[in-house]
Amino acid sequence: MGPGPAYSRVDGEFGFMYAIGQIVRMKKGHPCGGDTWRIIRIGMDFRIKCLKCGRSVLLPRQRFERRVREVLAQEENQGQSP
Ligand SMILES: [Zn+2]
Repeated sequence: MGPGPAYSRVDGEFGFMYAIGQIVRMKKGHPCGGDTWRIIRIGMDFRIKCLKCGRSVLLPRQRFERRVREVLAQEENQGQSP
């Protein structure tokens, strides 16, 4: 094993926390051809935005979690402190 991705997901592990700004790869790609998404809203429903075409979709949390293949990265907070 190399220095794998810091945020790889362990299937079935309880309590994995998602965060706004994380980039996830879904098992099923978007019709536009993209398969990576940024989490832009978290709650009972998750809103994710396709990184390729910029569209966003709303998914119930359970469906979102089932579809995630891996978490690729976490975005840094944008904007420096004033
Ligand atoms: Zn797309």
